[in-house]
Amino acid sequence: MKYRVHLYVTIRFVLEGVQASSQLEAIEKAEKDLLPDLNHGLMDSYEREYADEVTGYLVDEEGDEEFLKSRSYDQDKKPITAPPSEEKAKFQCENCEKLWTEEECEWIGRLTAKHILERFQRGDSFTDLECPECGALCH
Ligand SMILES: [Zn+2]
Repeated sequence: MKYRVHLYVTIRFVLEGVQASSQLEAIEKAEKDLLPDLNHGLMDSYEREYADEVTGYLVDEEGDEEFLKSRSYDQDKKPITAPPSEEKAKFQCENCEKLWTEEECEWIGRLTAKHILERFQRGDSFTDLECPECGALCH
């Protein structure tokens, strides 16, 4: 498998001699000069260096033209976004452990509240979804 990896790297740009009446104004002027150039890929004329920080990652998979498997990671390489297929199927049957989407699960809201409560063990998070295959609760 081949991947395309995007690294969101922090780069420190240094703009010397910014004429302004306050620090905040100097920031705004520097930004106005720098950002349009960055948008056009023109960064060679600026003094710059890697600021020892990567703020995020994005990984695409080769052959995945629609980017369905692309995934973003935060600076600690923890996933921020799940692939769409995993993102949808977020309810897991507590018995057979299959994953279902909310639409696939049976809705047990038609049962009485007492009936529902009897099925929950202490500490279980509430759910009104049932596994379409074995009928156990899905969380
Ligand atoms: Zn099940």
